[in-house]
Amino acid sequence: MLNICTNFMQHLLPQDCLLCGAYSGRAKLCPDCHADLPYHTAACCPACAMPALDGHLCGQCLKHPPPFSRTEVAFTYAFPLDRLVLALKYGHQLAVVSLLADTLCARVVGHALPDLLIPMPLHPNRLRERGFNQAHEIARHMAQQLCLPVWPNAATRVIDTAPQASLPLKQRRKNLREAFTCNTRVAGKRVAIIDDVMTSGSTLEALTEVLLKAGAVEVQCWVVARAVMQHNF
Ligand SMILES: [Zn+2]
Ligand SMILES: [Zn+2]
Repeated sequence: MLNICTNFMQHLLPQDCLLCGAYSGRAKLCPDCHADLPYHTAACCPACAMPALDGHLCGQCLKHPPPFSRTEVAFTYAFPLDRLVLALKYGHQLAVVSLLADTLCARVVGHALPDLLIPMPLHPNRLRERGFNQAHEIARHMAQQLCLPVWPNAATRVIDTAPQASLPLKQRRKNLREAFTCNTRVAGKRVAIIDDVMTSGSTLEALTEVLLKAGAVEVQCWVVARAVMQHNF
């Protein structure tokens, strides 16, 4: 109830820009910060959303096609968007959700929509630590806008892959392959996985494989921000 009231008041009352603190009226960002956002508009590979000439499949995806059919991305993961994602994840700034989710919605309308949305699950340890799953918050907002169901418990993260940086690469890959289980009947469904940031794509790839194995006919990735780096499918 408190959340509903807070959101309602935030919508009505003038507020400060979430990034620089300047007066922004009813908008979440002031015009300057809004203009600085790194929209992911460059021609990119439809499968992995990495920059690619003329928007064709990139060489990497031609050589090793990822298991997901396409990736839709709202922003490039760069300043000052990274600050907003961190404010959401670690500062519990839930006011950021609608700004990020609305931009991602604008990217996907006009395409054939999936049957349902599945937020990237957090391991129960992370969920306890953080108190909420940012991907679930984004998925919930998008589901409302697009009139689609969201299945937050369709998959579970059974291995905590976050704190495994010290493990050898081979072990990390094995853990990632076994990181998820699917708990729901997704047979025959077209699914979009919702996540906040895509880096190498390997976590999205692992969850996609589990959903396809459970019978999903198509899996897309809808991601708020894409880190533009050398990828390693
Ligand atoms: Zn600002
Ligand atoms: Zn690609």
